[in-house]
Parts: sequence; structure tokens; C-alpha cells
Amino acid sequence: MRKNVWRIDGRDANAVKGHVVWAPAKSIWNTAMFVLAITFAPSHFSWGAFALFLALSYVTLLLGHSLGMHRRLIHKTYDCPKSVERFLVWLGVLVGMAGPFGILRIHDVRDWAQREPQCHDFFAHRRGLWLDAFWQLHCTFRFSSPPRFVIEPQFAQDPWYRFMEATWPLHQLMLGTIFYLIGGLDWVVWGVFVRVAVGVTSHWVVTYFAHNPGPGHWTVPGAAVQASNLPGWGFLTHGECWHNNHHAFPESARMGIGPGELDPGWLILRALEKMGLAKNLGVPRAEDMRDDLEGARSTVTMRPSATQAA
Ligand SMILES: [Zn+2]
Ligand SMILES: [Zn+2]
Repeated sequence: MRKNVWRIDGRDANAVKGHVVWAPAKSIWNTAMFVLAITFAPSHFSWGAFALFLALSYVTLLLGHSLGMHRRLIHKTYDCPKSVERFLVWLGVLVGMAGPFGILRIHDVRDWAQREPQCHDFFAHRRGLWLDAFWQLHCTFRFSSPPRFVIEPQFAQDPWYRFMEATWPLHQLMLGTIFYLIGGLDWVVWGVFVRVAVGVTSHWVVTYFAHNPGPGHWTVPGAAVQASNLPGWGFLTHGECWHNNHHAFPESARMGIGPGELDPGWLILRALEKMGLAKNLGVPRAEDMRDDLEGARSTVTMRPSATQAA
């Protein structure tokens, strides 16, 4: 069975002690995109630019962030050729949130802290919406006793990922230049500024609500944070809204596992599998291997999958 992949050693670490500090680079980047977006979006609106914003947002967040960064790089829930992995991760970089190593660190540190018996409000998203927005989009957490975080060599030494990590903001410049040449300033404003501002903000909104109390089937014993499912948000979040399922089954490439839990990311993965571009798609581990989960909060029926691992 596929095991969850941990890059974190939290033996001497404390997930509560420490404080939130301003992170200048992140804050300036996010503020710049936000200000440029609201300043120029109304005067540079065109239907073509708007369509570009919608299409590129969906493709980069679905194929890039969800399938490339989250389901492949972070959790290794499926296998694919290196070229496919690198392409998907590049699409994830185009979201404009961070480089691949930055995304790994943000995800893993938060996930580790949430699975500790107690964690700071910063990781639990326990405070109000506005304070959490300021914390997550403009700050970072400085631990008194930080966990050790080591990226596995297959990623850390990959020249493409090192290049992505070193240059991730510049990819917006590259896109902006191409868009300017094709569609003029309207395309730059909607295809870069508005898209990055909306992408980064909506990612935080989903993260906030998915880690606050809400519906879900599964309980991870001893964890400070129980993630929630967000019914109705399957299409817009590419299936990432089934976050209670994801915390219970991080090994699964499929996040929407119950009836009616739409998971576009999973559907795309199945299509990639049929094309020979992905294989060994992870599914929730068998029922007799769920000793680490507490009684279901409500029952859910698992549909057997053609790719079910033994
Ligand atoms: Zn995850
Ligand atoms: Zn989570």
C-alpha cells in the first residue's frame, strides 16, 4: 500500500510555541498583484481577456496546483513519466503562489502541525477571516522549536525544480510578455494580475474553510485539526474541497470518494491513465488498514476502483 510521504521530522519540535512574523517578499508580491488587479481590471476589461483569465486559472490550478503540486509532488498519489510531472509542476508554478519547494514546505509544515495534539492558531486557521487572511497572505510562522524539513533528493536535486524554485515569479513576466504581444494590455491585466490575485486569494479561502469545523466522514485521532468537506465546491476547487477525505486518506489520488462528491482532478487523472500518461492511481486504503482513523462521523460507501491497489 502507498504510504503517506513525510519530509518532516517533528521529534524535537513544538507546533504551538512561536509567533507570526511579517514575510516581506510574500507580502509585497501578493499586495502588488492585488493592487495592480483592482486598479486596472475595470479599465482593461474585454471578453477575450476575461476568457483567458478563466481558462488559465482553471488549467493552472487544476492540472498544476492540484494534480502536479498536491497529488503528485506532495503526496505521490500516482506515478507518471518525469516529463509529465515536470510539466504539471510548471503549470503549478504559473499559479503565481510559490515555487515547488516553497509549496512543499507550506503544505507539509501546516499538515504536520495540524496532526499534532495541539497547534498554533496560525496552522489551525482558528482566528477570524480577516486576521487569517493577513497571516496567510502576508506572514509566516517563526517556531521556537521548528520541525526538521528535508526534501527528498528526487525533487531537491532535480535541475528543473531547482530552476523553478529560483525563478518562479519571473514566469509571470514571461507570460505577461507573451500576452502583451498577442492581446495587448487587457490580456496582461486579466491573464496575469487578476489571475494571480484571484488564484492566491481563492486558494487561501478554500484552505481556511477546509481546515475549520464542517461536515466530514472521518476523524483522525489525536489531531488538533479535523479537516472538513465543503459540499457543492467540487467543480470550482477541482475536488480539493473534499478535504476531510484527504486528511483521512492522504495516499489517495481520489479526493471525492462518496456519492455525489465531484472530483474533476480525479476524472482528469483517469483520462491521463487511459492515455498512458499516469499509472498506479492511489485510492483509499482498505478498511482493515484504517486503525489510524476513528469511527466514521457518518457512513460513506466506497465505490471499487479499477485501479484499487492490493
Ligand atoms: Zn495534502
Ligand atoms: Zn489539509
